[in-house]
Amino acid sequence: MSHEAATARICRGCWEQMRVPIVLRGPLAVPFRLVGVRPSRMNPNLCTICEQMFERVMRRRAIEIEATILFADIRGYTTLSQAMDAAALARLLNFFYDECATAIWLQDGLLNKAIGDSVLAIFNFPLHHGDHTRRALAAARDIQTRCTERCKRELAGYGLDASELGVGVGIDRGTTTFGEFGTTHTDLTAVGQVVNRAARLQSVAEPGEILLSEAAWQNLGEALPAIERREVQLKGYDGPQVAYAY
Ligand SMILES: [Zn+2]
Repeated sequence: MSHEAATARICRGCWEQMRVPIVLRGPLAVPFRLVGVRPSRMNPNLCTICEQMFERVMRRRAIEIEATILFADIRGYTTLSQAMDAAALARLLNFFYDECATAIWLQDGLLNKAIGDSVLAIFNFPLHHGDHTRRALAAARDIQTRCTERCKRELAGYGLDASELGVGVGIDRGTTTFGEFGTTHTDLTAVGQVVNRAARLQSVAEPGEILLSEAAWQNLGEALPAIERREVQLKGYDGPQVAYAY
């Protein structure tokens, strides 16, 4: 895998929070590698010390953070898995994760999870940015741009209806709980209303579409032209919810 976003030479987390230069790349990184310090798999601009640090904090208690949550997944995945052979499907998933990771990391987001055919990203943690919702939207648009052309190319020749294929994205913002959860195996992740709503919005987004929650939309306000207000029915919610399609 190659990621154009993976360019920081020293760990951004260690530098921004402690002013300690932990070298991640280049010849000076060798002594760090020898003691097991390397780029984090959740964000290549963070190191494994940062990862362990927030895992240790989380083990004691979950913390509440202000964040923007982004979910993206491939529409029509079931259709695809029936039409494509396993190797082609694996290639499709790989490029999808790759393109999502690059887009998310370029905006300093944390690629928290890749589950099946979808990804979950968190913005404003642990790298803080006041404009985290704007960054999430920028990442979402980047994901759409990167995936649209590539999807068409990969899928040409399978006789599939291109209008049913593509990526759907859901975005919400607000107070989110970040910590280790789970009983059979613990998992470091974000949970709560915001995560839930972003996931539900993603599940009703059309291929090529980004659906923003009311809170995300209000944060961005007039900065967004050409957006469609829509009422959507979300699983687990009473009555229609307002969403903004981009
Ligand atoms: Zn670090």
